[in-house]
Amino acid sequence: MKRRRFLGRSMAAGVALTGAEALESVRPARAAETQPSDLPSKFTPAAHALRRSAYSPFATADYYTFADDLVLEHNQPGKPHQGKVLAAIQPHSDDVPLYCGGTVAKLIDEGYTGYLIRISNDEAAGRTIGYGVVQNEIDNHEVAKALGCKKAYSFYYRNHRMDDDAEIEIRARLIFLFRLLRVNTILTMDPYDHYDENPDHLVVGRTVEAACWMAGGSRDYPEHLKAGLKTTSVREKYYHARSPQGHNLTNRIVDISSYIDAKVRANVANKGKGPAGTAGSALRRELAKEGRKLPLLGDNDETANFAYVKHFLMDDFRLLGEQFGLGYAEAFRYIGPEPVYSRNIREYVNQHAVPL
Ligand SMILES: [Zn+2]
Repeated sequence: MKRRRFLGRSMAAGVALTGAEALESVRPARAAETQPSDLPSKFTPAAHALRRSAYSPFATADYYTFADDLVLEHNQPGKPHQGKVLAAIQPHSDDVPLYCGGTVAKLIDEGYTGYLIRISNDEAAGRTIGYGVVQNEIDNHEVAKALGCKKAYSFYYRNHRMDDDAEIEIRARLIFLFRLLRVNTILTMDPYDHYDENPDHLVVGRTVEAACWMAGGSRDYPEHLKAGLKTTSVREKYYHARSPQGHNLTNRIVDISSYIDAKVRANVANKGKGPAGTAGSALRRELAKEGRKLPLLGDNDETANFAYVKHFLMDDFRLLGEQFGLGYAEAFRYIGPEPVYSRNIREYVNQHAVPL
């Protein structure tokens, strides 16, 4: 990935600016397109309400707080992640497709072996409760396929009731899978969201974060090791927020321009719930009954579903990308590998130790 200093240059024009000026440079576009700010000039804005799509299912403004060492992650040539394993963990079958599907498809294309893990049974999202369980189970597998994942798992906890489940059990099940699959990298809900109405999201964020750490400890669940599993260190975390108002810290923007169609297909695969699925073909049928058609939906259900998602539901990701000079983008709080501090101490010792 290409690392670029965020502060010190304008995202829009590439003009050298100081940190405060660079942040300020986001404001004119926002002011022109949303409501003007009443913030007195003596304050430097720290959270940015970026322009939202009129087609977004989330109508409330979403605030981004950008880190001063923000990294733009671009496509990487070849297969730099060959041999590595990622797990995309979602509370519900539409979370990964909506919030990080482009990045999952990108990382798998760059060599990762990918797994999709769904924590709920999605019973609250479907034509009926029973229908929701069945359809979302199918969808989870189809989403995994669309993103290039090797396998999909489901834990089947009851939907919207995860705060009533024992987090220690969810965590233990994740530790088992992380060790079995030898996971290096995870993508999931940010456990530090400022705002999320869905109780399942923060439970999943918290349990994944703890499982990442505990999967590397030989004293936790030692029977796993006796049974043949190995400890594993999850060294990279991509945390995504659920809009609105969830982006309390963004330090990585991933360019998903080359993977937007894979992201669209993953959302179309999500038929049991969410804003995507078969909404395009339903609109096409509705218009046909009225003797009308929308040209962008094409001439069949398949083109209608694809075009509906790409044109309407991906518009927020296009607008986010626009801020960074990209076609489409996804935003993350990224936590990378920790330095090997003991090696640094040993180097210091070797340089400074003197004879007794
Ligand atoms: Zn969800």
